[in-house]
Amino acid sequence: MSKIFDTIIIGGGPAGLSAGLYAARSKMDTLIIERAKFGGQATTTDELENYPGSIEDCTGTTLSERMRKQAEEFGVNFTKDTVTKVELEGDVKTVICNNETYQAKTIIIATGATPRLGGFKNEIELRGKGVSYCATCDADFFTELDIAVIGGGDSAITEAIYLSKFGETVTVIYRKGKENLRAAKSLLEKAFNNPKINFVFDTVVEEAIDNDGILGGLMVKNTKTGEVSKLAVDGCFVFVGYNPISELFRGTVNMTERGDIITDENMKTNIPGVFAAGDVREKTLRQVITAAADGAIAATQAEHYIENHK
Ligand code: NDP
Repeated sequence: MSKIFDTIIIGGGPAGLSAGLYAARSKMDTLIIERAKFGGQATTTDELENYPGSIEDCTGTTLSERMRKQAEEFGVNFTKDTVTKVELEGDVKTVICNNETYQAKTIIIATGATPRLGGFKNEIELRGKGVSYCATCDADFFTELDIAVIGGGDSAITEAIYLSKFGETVTVIYRKGKENLRAAKSLLEKAFNNPKINFVFDTVVEEAIDNDGILGGLMVKNTKTGEVSKLAVDGCFVFVGYNPISELFRGTVNMTERGDIITDENMKTNIPGVFAAGDVREKTLRQVITAAADGAIAATQAEHYIENHK
């Protein structure tokens, strides 16, 4: 543990990988710690049509892999491990993982966010047995079957369009009226014009029907009439937003009640030498491009911090 990195980046999604690229290009000795899969949530997206330049063969997975490779070529060190504790105060920060403990002059928190649960009966029990949170991972299981998508934001509509390539039908279940849909207009237009996709408004899912351990349909309730009915679907994809992954930092780093880490426009947190980037941060637009931009800013600021603390 004698080595002290210039920066340790916690999280290997677009924010972390882009921070790594910028840090390593500035000749900072850089380590990225990722607990699961490099690329983060972006790898669960099939089409990334709003990332500039991503016109051909650009899925979330391919873009993430390119980002990782690019960072590696500039000398970023990578490790797969789970951070269990951090000590962020002082000039040398300590990151304790399951397998090893690391130290650095600066820390960039890029831990991202995790899908929110729909909150209906049997959701957890039937996860992976008909209930899913990742279309690119599970769409194939529902080829020529009937699929429900819960939500009305960009994720729900993007994934409904993707799922329509597999399923016989895709029913988008949205808890409010059509006029409240949050997804981008261009996405909504595509979905409305897709003959396989239909929308059910003012409706919430109350229960996933457990048919011998497999999803056997959904019990849905119309919030206006109170009428409860069964929706016959084989798969149910939940896209109702995300929660920041920030528990490790609670009590040390300033965050909102929800857990979004508060930074200034230079990605600085309340602790000197500690920065946050990407979806874990309080912000209005959570996209791959904004995560990557955050990462670039955080790394540049980390470099300035080190320069000013010599
Ligand atoms: P959002 O928070 O934007 O939308 C969540 C949706 O789920 C809303 O329609 C919300 O309804 C609904 N919802 C929330 N809780 C429940 C619940 N318990 N039961 C039923 N419905 C619920 O999340 P997204 O994941 O769609 O997007 C997150 C961020 O990522 C956004 O900034 C988005 O722009 C971005 N994104 C961009 C993409 C792109 O541009 N290609 C793709 C995917 C995400 P209500 O409207 O009533 O609150």
